[in-house]
Amino acid sequence: MYGSPIWANHLSPQNRTILGRLQRLMATRAVRGYRTVSKDAACLLAGSIPWDLDARALADVYWRCAAVRAEGGNPLPDAVRRWRNSAEERAIDLWAERLEEPTVSIALVTAIRPIFREWIKRTHGALSFHLTQMLTGHGCFGRYLCEIARSEVTTECHHCGEERDTAEHTITACPAWATQRAALTAAIGEDATLPALCRALVESGEKWSAVETFAHSVISTKEEAERIREREAHGHRRRRPRRRRRNGRDIPP
Ligand SMILES: [Zn+2]
Repeated sequence: MYGSPIWANHLSPQNRTILGRLQRLMATRAVRGYRTVSKDAACLLAGSIPWDLDARALADVYWRCAAVRAEGGNPLPDAVRRWRNSAEERAIDLWAERLEEPTVSIALVTAIRPIFREWIKRTHGALSFHLTQMLTGHGCFGRYLCEIARSEVTTECHHCGEERDTAEHTITACPAWATQRAALTAAIGEDATLPALCRALVESGEKWSAVETFAHSVISTKEEAERIREREAHGHRRRRPRRRRRNGRDIPP
């Protein structure tokens, strides 16, 4: 944000893209997501205001203070605090507007939008590797492994035979996870769709833990099954998905 009062309102589209790319990288690390997670999803999960909007909020406060000083005054701390709060609220409003018609991560953005402010201002709950997989769908699901990571040849669920294994199938339908799902719905209610899960996550720390426990239990079992499949397919040595490389670049923090 260095020098943001100077550049914030003069960003070229290319520079906005470069800023967004950097922010995506950091937000993805913060929520322990795969690097395929979109910028919108990563920033939303991390509660990280897009940097171009953040810079404009900082610039707004700076120029207000500068105007007072130019007239020989000194901005009062209370006034500066008020300006900061209103600039931040405006940035959040503009961010919410950008998310009104999502073109990527549509399911997640649509699920969080009704609880947008509660989500970014909550004081409990940090995202874990497994919870982020469940919310983004980028993780150990047949659809992701086949169509995005390209490490599997079909999208099928290896636990029940369903043609398309997605996060939604895993959470709401796959019979293999009935026990874990029963514990989850006992804690958050019968509705375990993505919007309901997101609502439960912001409601309380207890509900957050219940969803996280479900995600950890189910996805770690799916990951173990995936490792066994990889070992069994040793003869046809497929390239390991890049997300597993051990050089640290793709491993969630
Ligand atoms: Zn299944």
